Amino acid sequence: MTASPSSNYRGRLAPSPTGYLHAGHARTFWTAFERARAAGGTLVMRMEDLDPDRSRAEYAEAALEDLRWLGIRWQEGPDVGGPCGPYTQSERRAVYVAAWRRLLEGGFLYPCRCSRKDLAAAVSAPHESATAEQDALDDEPVYPGTCRPAPGTVFEAREPAGVNWRFRVPEGEAVEFVDGNLWPQRFVAGRDFGDFVVWRRDDVPSYQLACVADDAAMRITEVVRGADLLKSTARQMLLNRALGFADPAWFHCRLMTDAKGRRLAKRHDALSLRALRERGRLPEEILTAEMG
Ligand code: GLU
Repeated sequence: MTASPSSNYRGRLAPSPTGYLHAGHARTFWTAFERARAAGGTLVMRMEDLDPDRSRAEYAEAALEDLRWLGIRWQEGPDVGGPCGPYTQSERRAVYVAAWRRLLEGGFLYPCRCSRKDLAAAVSAPHESATAEQDALDDEPVYPGTCRPAPGTVFEAREPAGVNWRFRVPEGEAVEFVDGNLWPQRFVAGRDFGDFVVWRRDDVPSYQLACVADDAAMRITEVVRGADLLKSTARQMLLNRALGFADPAWFHCRLMTDAKGRRLAKRHDALSLRALRERGRLPEEILTAEMG
């Protein structure tokens, strides 16, 4: 299908198989595809199926099929193989344990025994925001620091399981970057986001950790993702620095909203690619039309 890449550009598609993809995903993935193609680069498909409670094999299959139906093609992935495999996160545990260990040895992590209930009581409820993008940014409450030890405390552990491991963010430091689409961005550690979990007590690596470990291992040069992940990008830049990884370039796509101005989510079943296709909509209509 595609000739061998003529540049070092490496982009990726990283769906989470927790539901059917919707029109908003389609636009973001299409942008990722277009940018890789325009650069004459390589596009990697990575299945982000780490959440054991929400990921389902049938959604992973459906994601590949729906994206192919849209006309998106990738050169590496779970279905086509490639030099950086496996391309399914549930098969990459060793990569994440290695990253966890490096962070632990660098003194960036501490164990946290707070329960979800403790955390909910310690932080104020996420506020509603005027725009869909702001709303989506209120993703994870700022951790109040209950278990944070004195600076410089280094922990030892053989395996990550059993407690939550948190990454200590540099309190008050501004994380800044120039996004390829949304221009200058600035988030302050400790204010816009707090010490975040990198490994859950039930032995699941967090999205943040798995994502940076994989983007580095798969030699990704540009990350194209939805604007709801801007704050995650700031967290990932701190992880990259701690791990000694170079940051890729960042390109965040504006979020699609429904007729009420709410961000499209997997709850919008009527706008799933499956449902639209069954109703006879064509890929080009989905990629260009207003959805309401
Ligand atoms: N798997 C994540 C999601 O579907 C996106 C990851 C990313 O682009 O970094 O929400």
